[in-house]
Amino acid sequence: MISKKLIAQRKWKKENKEHVYKERTKWNKDNIEKVREYKRKWQKNNNEKVEAQNLLNTAIMKGIIVKEACSVCGDIKSQAHHPDYSKPLEVIWLCQQHHKDLHVKLKEAATA
Ligand SMILES: [Zn+2]
Ligand SMILES: [Zn+2]
Repeated sequence: MISKKLIAQRKWKKENKEHVYKERTKWNKDNIEKVREYKRKWQKNNNEKVEAQNLLNTAIMKGIIVKEACSVCGDIKSQAHHPDYSKPLEVIWLCQQHHKDLHVKLKEAATA
């Protein structure tokens, strides 16, 4: 004979299963949107980066922009740093080490 308690337990399990399933489906749906949005943003940022670099390279080739030495230590083996990718020709010239240092600082500032 099945006790009332057992019936209640089964009922609860069934309802709970549905509840969990619904929650999980909802979460997945929300998450897909988040992942999609993240990918979109990343792609946009990445395109901006590549585009800014391309524009800068073209400007250097045409002599519009002159490559400068590292603004910190004066090393002539410098790289262009873009403080703002929407301004591709506004760059700071830094050597590999100081460029790396700057990015570490920027990352720290962003996560702080
Ligand atoms: Zn330097
Ligand atoms: Zn940089």
